[in-house]
Amino acid sequence: MEIETEATLARLTTIGTGGPAAAFARPESVSELEAAIAWAAKRGLEIRTVGLGSNLLAADGGVDALVLRLAGDLAAVEVDGELLRAGGGATNAVCLHRARDAGLGGLEFACAIPGTAGGGVRMNAGAYGSDWSAIVVRALVVSSEGSGWLTPAELGLEYRHSLVRPDQVVARVEYELSPRPVGEIKKKVAELVARRKATQPTNKRTFGSVFKNPPGELGAGRMLELCGLKGHAIGGAVVSPRHANFIENAGGATSADCLALVREARRRAREQFGAELEHEVVLLGALSV
Ligand SMILES: Cc1cc2nc3c(=O)[nH]c(=O)nc-3n(C[C@H](O)[C@H](O)[C@H](O)COP(=O)(O)OP(=O)(O)OC[C@H]3O[C@@H](n4cnc5c(N)ncnc54)[C@H](O)[C@@H]3O)c2cc1C
Repeated sequence: MEIETEATLARLTTIGTGGPAAAFARPESVSELEAAIAWAAKRGLEIRTVGLGSNLLAADGGVDALVLRLAGDLAAVEVDGELLRAGGGATNAVCLHRARDAGLGGLEFACAIPGTAGGGVRMNAGAYGSDWSAIVVRALVVSSEGSGWLTPAELGLEYRHSLVRPDQVVARVEYELSPRPVGEIKKKVAELVARRKATQPTNKRTFGSVFKNPPGELGAGRMLELCGLKGHAIGGAVVSPRHANFIENAGGATSADCLALVREARRRAREQFGAELEHEVVLLGALSV
C-alpha cells in the first residue's frame, strides 16, 4: 500500500473544496488498514476516513492527518442469503445494485444518497422514512485500540448521528435485507430518484444537507428559504436556488466561502425563527462554524 503525500481533499469531496492531506492511503484489506493506522501512530498523525466525501467540508489549509479511502476488499460487496456484506468503502450504488440483482429489498431508500457503507454508518444516513439503523446488523470498527464487530446499539445510531469516533474506521458492514421482486425494487428506486430530481440540486457539486432538520414542523430547507437565502452567494459558493439546505459550488468555491454561508444561514435562522440550526455536514481539519 502506497502512502501518498500529494492528495488534495478537493478531489476527495463532492463539493470539490479543501486543501492537502498530510498523507493519504487506500488500504485494501483489514491488515493493510491496521498497517496504515500503525504507520500514522508512529508519526503522531491522526487518522481520518473519507468515503465519497459527500457530507464533508475540509479546511482549505489542509488536514493534518493520514486520510484513508477504503478500496479493494474493503470496498467489495457480496450477498449471502438475505445478508449483504459490504466493505466500508463500498458505494451505496453498488450495494443497491447487488441487492436488486439478488432480489433483496430494504436499501431502496439509499438510492439517492451518494455515499459509502462506512459513511452511512458514521452518519446514520437516511431518507424517505428509513435509515442505516433499519438495515445494519453489525459493523467491523478498526482503530489503534484494536478491532471489533459492533451492533447497531453499540454504534449508537440516531438521527444523522452515531458513536463512531473520528479516528475509528468502519471497515465492513453487514446489512439484513428481505426478499422483494426485482421489478418492485426498480419501480421504487425510479420513483425515489424522480422525487429527488424534482426537489434537490442533484446535478450540482454540493455536500448534501447543510443542517439537520430542527425539531418541529418546519424543516431546515423551508426555514432557510423563508429567510430569503435561496441564491445567496459568497465567493464561489451559493445557496441552492432549488433547495435552501444545500450549498452549491458554482465554480471556484473555497471551504471558507461555504463556511461563511453556513454562518450566515445560522444567523438568519436564529434571528428570524429563534432556531439553533445544527450542521449535518462534517468538518474536517481546523474548521468551526
Ligand atoms: C446530492 C447529495 C444528496 C444527499 N442526500 C442525503 C440523504 O438523503 N440522506 C442522508 O443522510 N445524507 C445525504 N447526503 C449526505 C451523504 O451522502 C451521506 O451522509 C453519506 O452517508 C456520506 O457517506 P460518505 O461515504 O460519502 O461519507 P463522507 O462524506 O466521506 O464522510 C462523512 C463522515 O463519515 C466518516 N466516514 C466515512 N467513511 C467512513 C468509514 N469507512 N469509517 C468511519 N468513518 C467514515 C467521515 O470521516 C465523516 O466523518 C447527500 C449528499 C449529497 C451530495
